[in-house]
Amino acid sequence: MPRNNRPKNSKRQAEEEELDLERVRSGIARTEVKNGTEFTVQTTAGRSAEETKRWICPYCQVSFGPGISHVVAWESAAGPTQRRHFHNNCWKKFQGRII
Ligand SMILES: [Zn+2]
Repeated sequence: MPRNNRPKNSKRQAEEEELDLERVRSGIARTEVKNGTEFTVQTTAGRSAEETKRWICPYCQVSFGPGISHVVAWESAAGPTQRRHFHNNCWKKFQGRII
């Protein structure tokens, strides 16, 4: 019996991780459900934003500017015009509705 039928799970996993990284880099949106509300979520490095642009995080009310990796999220039903910018950690803690 040749030993060429070993499972290749480790290789497949590595490929999936690479794919995730690629998705983050290219800013492809994913969806997350928080408290029964579906949000469309994008992680961004904020690099493409204008230098003077600032956002106020809806969770902690602290403003931040471009160059800070953060999360852009909006209620899927409301659409991207209602998007808000969260600190990465604030988005993890955020569980309610965007006011
Ligand atoms: Zn915040």
